[in-house]
Amino acid sequence: MRWTGDRVTAHRHRTEHAPVCAAALPLGSATVTEADCLFCKIAAGQLPATVVRDDELTLAFRDLNPQAPTHVLVITKSHYPDVASLVAADPEGLVALHRTAVAVAEAEGVAGPGWRLVFNTGRKAGQTVRHVHGHVLGGRDFGWPPG
Ligand code: 5GP
Ligand code: ZN
Repeated sequence: MRWTGDRVTAHRHRTEHAPVCAAALPLGSATVTEADCLFCKIAAGQLPATVVRDDELTLAFRDLNPQAPTHVLVITKSHYPDVASLVAADPEGLVALHRTAVAVAEAEGVAGPGWRLVFNTGRKAGQTVRHVHGHVLGGRDFGWPPG
């Protein structure tokens, strides 16, 4: 099992060490419970999703409630609560997530016309799932400033 702060290698956590992981975290650390994390479950194949891209570090799947003709979520397979946690702990994962986002935009045909990569971070920005995810949005015109 690999631990780096609150980073958890999701599949190992679930399949091998789920009962002991919380105890292994340092006292006072942010204990986001990966066992209950919706996107960890999708990454592990425990919940269904329409996957459009899958590689060693990242997964891309269609948003359940799309806000644009292209609306794909890109996650790291390892659990981080938000993009700030990912930046702090895993530069390789951060780059991989962005590479996947670009690849998705190209594959969806929105790279040329224009697209957005959005990380809602925290309550006031409307983040509802506490597992880092970038929204790849395209296929229509977007306003600025965003709502
Ligand atoms: P946030 O509001 O945290 O930035 O984005 C969370 C996104 O996850 C929302 O756009 C929401 O529609 C999407 N979402 C929530 N639950 C599920 C799910 O079970 N499957 C998929 N594919 N998307 C989900
Ligand atoms: Zn997670």
